[in-house]
This record gives sequence, structure tokens and C-alpha cells, in this order.
Amino acid sequence: MSKSKSSESVKVVVRCRPMNEKERAAKYESVVSVDVKLGQIIVRNPRESSGNELPKIFTFDAVYGWNSKQLEMYDETFRPLVESVLLGFNGTIFAYGQTGTGKTYTMEGVRNDPEKRGVIPNSFEHIFTHISRSQNQQYLVRASYLEIYQEEIRDLLSKDQSRRLELRERPDTGVYVKDLSSFVTKSVREIEHVMNVGNQNRSVGATNMNEHSSRSHAIFVITVECSELGVDGENHIRVGKLNLVDLAGSERQTKTGAQGERLKEATKINLSLSALGNVISALVDGRSSHIPYRDSKLTRLLQDSLGGNARTVMVANIGPASYNVEETLTTLRYSNRAKNIKNKPRINEDPKDALLREFQEEIARLKAQLQKRSGKKKRRRLRRRAGEGSDDEGLESGETEDDEEDGDDKGDYWREQQEKLEKERKAILDDHSLVAEEKARLLKEKEKKMEDLRKEREAGEKLAAKVKAMESKLLVGGKNIVDHTNEQQRMLEQKRQEIAEQKRREREMQQQMESRDEETLELKETYTSLQQEVDIKTKKLKKLFSKLQSVKAEIQDLQEAHINERQEMEQIQNELTRDLKLKHLIIENFIPLEEKNKIVNRAFFDEEPEEWKMKPITRIEDDHQMMSRPRSAVGYWRPLSHHAHVAMMLKPDMRYKAENIIMLDMDIPARTTKEYQEPVIAPKLAAALEDALRDEDEIEVDASSFHSSLGQMLPASASGSLKKPKSGRPRTGKKSSTPTSSYSPSSPGSPLYPQSRGLVPK
Ligand code: ADP
Ligand code: MG
Repeated sequence: MSKSKSSESVKVVVRCRPMNEKERAAKYESVVSVDVKLGQIIVRNPRESSGNELPKIFTFDAVYGWNSKQLEMYDETFRPLVESVLLGFNGTIFAYGQTGTGKTYTMEGVRNDPEKRGVIPNSFEHIFTHISRSQNQQYLVRASYLEIYQEEIRDLLSKDQSRRLELRERPDTGVYVKDLSSFVTKSVREIEHVMNVGNQNRSVGATNMNEHSSRSHAIFVITVECSELGVDGENHIRVGKLNLVDLAGSERQTKTGAQGERLKEATKINLSLSALGNVISALVDGRSSHIPYRDSKLTRLLQDSLGGNARTVMVANIGPASYNVEETLTTLRYSNRAKNIKNKPRINEDPKDALLREFQEEIARLKAQLQKRSGKKKRRRLRRRAGEGSDDEGLESGETEDDEEDGDDKGDYWREQQEKLEKERKAILDDHSLVAEEKARLLKEKEKKMEDLRKEREAGEKLAAKVKAMESKLLVGGKNIVDHTNEQQRMLEQKRQEIAEQKRREREMQQQMESRDEETLELKETYTSLQQEVDIKTKKLKKLFSKLQSVKAEIQDLQEAHINERQEMEQIQNELTRDLKLKHLIIENFIPLEEKNKIVNRAFFDEEPEEWKMKPITRIEDDHQMMSRPRSAVGYWRPLSHHAHVAMMLKPDMRYKAENIIMLDMDIPARTTKEYQEPVIAPKLAAALEDALRDEDEIEVDASSFHSSLGQMLPASASGSLKKPKSGRPRTGKKSSTPTSSYSPSSPGSPLYPQSRGLVPK
């Protein structure tokens, strides 16, 4: 199935960006120097106190300084990788580094400036130019774009941006993203459009794009399928997949001080990157048999790129300024380790999931149908010409049989049919011998036939268009994708590539010479005198001593870094342990053992989404799993309080029955109030009351009768109060002289005492 190849290392290159405006304004010094020839990065320690500390030197496959050109970098480092993708290898480019060091600049670059375009657009150009120059090959190119943020995968090309995708695994093709959309692209313009749409979607969800991009990984995937006739006379398909990965910023998300949710969030953001680091360590270590790919989405998805079937280039981006020195060193160490990862790339030949194969088969199937159809028609036409009367019937049944998938691009057949039907229709119209009803029926029939014919023709046209569209997606060099570069440009390109290749080889040789130098120096040397030998050996000793010092310093640095990392991990561990303890405490104290066991029995670990799930409760299978009624008192169906229990024992009151007896009528409580009763008032009192409540104007004062009556009834001393009885109090003083009967309401009273109206409301 594939041509196996010997293993090869992950290629690591380092790129140092120029000082930016801010850094220049703040007059930060540059601590990084780049030796392009030797492929070395030299980092000075900015602390002056450690003046005797030697600079740290790291060697890589290639290094790029602040004035490196995008195209130069592409030709030297990325072109060979993309080239091998076109041959059917898998390829991956990682951009790693602290935020703001040029990962996105390296991967995407400045969109509108051809000089500053990054790897992704340059690879588009490269791929489609390659195809346009190919011969006797069919290509299918498609693109996907996804993002991993806080361990969630988002399809940047999907309409629904709120959806999160899952990783799945198939034994034959490995890990893939389920339902990830991919677009077949026919040109640079189309694939650029795909990238732009994805980039727009990427920023849509983010409130702060810089922060978001520094915390998420973006992966642009280009799949190139190529079909070519092999020596065995069969078509063979090779599939190369190119992953272009812009990683999250490598700086540690500050965990110190963060607690609870925030800590978890910071941990999650770092998870994929630290998992990547762990995978690299495990791969390089050689001792560990377990590689923790499954620890994060990123490492699972890019498993093949790290120690598997892929060619991989890692670009480590660094900044030159002194205040970044710690991060810069961390980045350099991290990527230095990655150099030692061994991959086993091979050409993917005739994989099961090749889309190109599906396309080819579909096109072949449709074409065969078209062929069959036109063959059938030809036969029919021949039959018709021979004068078969029942031809129409045959046609009709044929139509309904394969209406959708059938079609014909021969216009004259359709025209012929239509004209024939039209003629027949006219004949019916002109035929006066027919009954009106019969005529209508026949006309309707003919019209239906014409309609069917039209539909069929449309379906056929649609089908032909579909075949055409599908064929147009399969790119064939010089046919539906044409190379527009002229001969001169082509030559120039080739020269550029040759130079890049030359440079690369030169550097490799330099590096080899350097390392060999030290080994062979000793052997070659012959000493003329003892003094000379002493001198030379002293010099060498010094050199070796300084080397020893730098290695020692490196060890110390690494130890420090390790300690820091360990402390952070301990902090996380403490947090998690505390969380766990709390949960245990709750379980121990508040959840009955029986219930706990039930839950434990139902829980299982789902491998795919990697989370714990609960089996559903089924009555038949695990009847014992069903929640039973709690019984706080044995023998009763209802939990009973102690009081109820005692009350039940003492008096057989319904109220305390344990069984489900509901008493619907209420207990009538003993009466504590009295009904209102009208007070019985003595008529005398009533009259007096009435008198007292009387309005002023009801009182009539008759002066003429006043004297006589006054003389008769009242003592002179009371005369002052006569005008108006002020108070409501009856005048008790005259009681003796006035008979009680005169107060009765019925008796017509004297003018002085108006008649009482009794207790009648006004
Ligand atoms: P990252 O993606 O790593 O966070 P960016 O790619 O956004 O960093 O780069 C930050 C800034 O530095 C951008 O404005 C970019 O244009 C600039 N920059 C980065 N690398 C280079 C370079 N090699 N040459 C010129 N400018 C660069
Ligand atoms: Mg970026």
C-alpha cells in the first residue's frame, strides 16, 4: 500500500523577528544574534552581574534573522516539504513561540503584499503551479480550516460557528475530525477565499482577537490527491495532507493567584501545548514506551506529525529584546528537543478514503448512464423509423424507469420528439370525428407527455452539467488549469530554488565540519616542541573548560526551569486534590453507600469524547438499580417521624395512620368567638340617645310657648341651657316633675321635646 522510507528527523528552524517600534523606543538591547551560515542562535545573558557567563548557543537546521525574506525562507525550508506533499507524503508545519514573535507573520504574513506573504499563501501558489505543469495526472485539492480553543474544536468554515466538533478514530485512517467541512478548490483564488472566510470566522467569535489568537491553535489543512496511470496499467492515487499549524502563544498562562474556574481555564489553555511538550519529551527520551498523544486534542489530531507518518518542520519564533530572554531560551530549548524526533514518512498510496477515487467512479457511472441512454434512443429511433406503432408506450415506460438520472445532450432527439408530439396534438384538435370528451382526454394525455418530455430533458441537462462540474474539479495540467508563467519566470524560479538548495547543503556541510573539526584536530596535530604542545593543549583545555562551564550553566538553567514547572504542577495538583477531597467528603457524609454504589456501577468511561457517562436505567435489566422507596420505619410505606410513631401507638387516630389514608374533611376547631347580638336598649334610653344624636336644626324653639311651658316644667336656674341641649346627656334633674310617659316615643311630646324617631337609620 505504501512505499516505506527510512526514518527522518523533525526539521527545526528558528526565526528571530526584528525589534518592534516599542522595543526600539524603550531602548531595549538585543540579546539574540543569528549565525545564518552555521545555523546557530546565540543568546547573551542580559544581566550584567553575570558578565563572565558565556552566551548560550543553539544549533538548528536553519536560522533566520530579522531581515529574512518570506520567499527565501519558503524556498529553503518549506518548499521541499510542500513538494513531498504533492508526491503523496503527509506534511506538517508548526509555528511555535511566544505571542508577538511572528508565528502568524510566518504562516500567513501580510495578505496584500506579495513580498510578505507567509507559508500558507505561498504554498497555494506552489501547489497550483505544480499541478498546472503536470502531465498525465489528475489532481483534486481540498481545504479545511479549524481551531482548537480550550480543548474545543471549531470548524472555521462551517456556517454554524457555535458547533463543537469531536475527534474520532478509525483503525485504517487514524484520527480525524468528525463532520469537518472541506472545500474542493480549483485555483489559488478559490483556496484563498476559503482561507479568508476561515480567518473572518476566527475573529468573529473573539472579543479580543490578539488574546484569542494567542490562546488558540489554528490548523489549515490542504489535501492533495493525485491520480496517475501506473506501470501496471492501473490508475493509482496518492494522497498528501498538509497541516499548517499556527500554535497558541507558548508563554505560560499565569496560574499563580488564579483559583477555581480561572485556574481550570488557564490549565485548559495550556493543556494542548504542554501535552505537545510532553509528547516531544516522550518521543525523544527513548525510554518511555507510552507517548501521551491522547492527553490533548492537538496532539491526538497531529499524532502522525510527531513520530509518525509525516514530514514535519517546526518554526520556532523568537524576539530579540532583552526582556524576553527567559521566554526566548525556553522556546529554543523546547524546539531544540524537537530536533530529535524521528518520523517515518511514506507515500500514501491508494488509501480507502480518497475522494478522487469517488469522483472518478461517480463520473464514470454517470457517463456510462448517458451512454446507455443515448444508445437506447438510437435503437428507438431506428425502431420508429421502421414504423412501429407502439413506440410511444415503450418510450413512456422507459421514461419513468430512470427519469432523474437519464439525459441526453443530443438536442435534435428532443426536438424531434417534441415536434412529433406537437403534430399529434394538432391532429387531435383538427379531428372533428372525435367526441368532445374523447378529444379532451387525448389532448390532456398529449400535454402530459410533452410535460414529461420537458422534465426529462431538464433532468438530462442538469445531469450533464453535474458531470461537467465534477470533471472541472479534477485538475489536469494544461487543460483545466494552465500555467501562466513565462519561460523566463520559470527559469528564475528554478535558479532561486537551486540557490536555496545550495545554501542548505552548504550549511549542513559547515555544521558537519564544525563537529568533525574538534574530533580530528587532535589526531592531525604534531608538535615540534614540548612548549608548543603545552601551549596548544592549554588553549584546548581553556576551550573545553569554557564548554564545560556553558554546559554546567545550561544544566542549572534547566534545573531551574524544571523546578518552576514542578512548582506550578504541584500547585495545580494541590488545587485538584482539594477539590477531590471536598467531593469525597460530600459523598462520604451525604450519600448513602448503597446509592453511591449504584452510581459507580452505572458510570463508564466513553473513549471517544473521553468523558465519564452514565448508563441509562432500564427496568428490566437492572431492576435492582431502580430507586426504591425510602423506608425510615420498617413495615410502613411512608417515612414516619418519631412523634407520629408515638402518637400512632398511643391513640388510634386516623391522622397518624402510616398507610396512605387521606382524610378529606377538616377538623372543626372549638368555637372561641360569639355571634353578634343586637343590644337591647330600654326605650327610655333609646329616646335619650336619640335626643342626644339629634341634629341642631331639628330643634324648634317656639318663643311664644316658651314662657308658659318654662314656668310649668323647668326651674328657672336651667333656663340658660334651654336654647339648645348641649350635651347628649338627658337632664336627669327634671325627672321628678315630668312623668315618664311623656318620654315615650309614641306620645305626642310637648313642643320642647320633639318626638323620638327611635333607632331608625336616617
Ligand atoms: P504571533 O502570531 O506570534 O503572536 P505576529 O505574527 O502577530 O506574532 O507578529 C507580531 C508583529 O510582529 C506583527 O506586527 C508582525 O508584522 C511583526 N513581525 C513578526 N515577525 C516579523 C518579521 N520577521 N519581519 C517583520 N515583521 C515581523
Ligand atoms: Mg498570531
